[in-house]
Amino acid sequence: MKIGFEKYNLQDEILKSLKDLGYNKPTKVQEKVIGEALLNKDLLVKAQTGTGKTAAFVIPICEKIKWEDNNPQALILSPTRELAIQINEDVKNIGRYKRIKSTALYGKSPFKDQERELKAKCHIVIGTPGRVLDHIDRGTFNVKELKYLVIDEADEMLNMGFIKQIEGVIRRIPKKKVTMLFSATLPEEIKSLSAKYLDRPVEIKI
Ligand code: AMP
Repeated sequence: MKIGFEKYNLQDEILKSLKDLGYNKPTKVQEKVIGEALLNKDLLVKAQTGTGKTAAFVIPICEKIKWEDNNPQALILSPTRELAIQINEDVKNIGRYKRIKSTALYGKSPFKDQERELKAKCHIVIGTPGRVLDHIDRGTFNVKELKYLVIDEADEMLNMGFIKQIEGVIRRIPKKKVTMLFSATLPEEIKSLSAKYLDRPVEIKI
């Protein structure tokens, strides 16, 4: 029996980067999420930070990215600039050998620099909801080819009052896509967000 990441039939480039990172076997949340995500299921995941939840969505997304396509294929929403930067690091590490291009978008940082990165080849965008919405509305972020949406630390985003912006983003991106919602807690607001925007999600609790 294979206990490592080999069982998912991931591309060699992805397996090689996991090996470099010293990720020898999936954590609990990765064990439950990766297989379902590779099947393009919508997911509602209750998991805390420190469980390996970031790689749980970054691994299948990096696997699914089509390198030839120039417009963003995945969008990851994060409550803070710090978390967006951290997720971007994880994407760069896991996507290294596949040469995956990613950009982090957040406020209080020059719009122009972010615009330039979005103009170049960019497979994955990680950002805070307000700044992401700004780029979409100014036409600097082309969302037409988005196939994956991750709402990370959803309860944090709700606590910070980002619900309007999250819904604004969802309204502007393609309806046909895979959505994964990650949250440390599942209060009513998160359940209703899930009911409204996720399609028969697989529920995973760690
Ligand atoms: P996270 O919950 O995403 O903040 O991840 C917590 C920590 O676990 C990070 O430092 C990751 O680099 C590490 N990590 C994630 N997946 C694995 C794995 N499969 N094996 C070992 N460490 C991991």
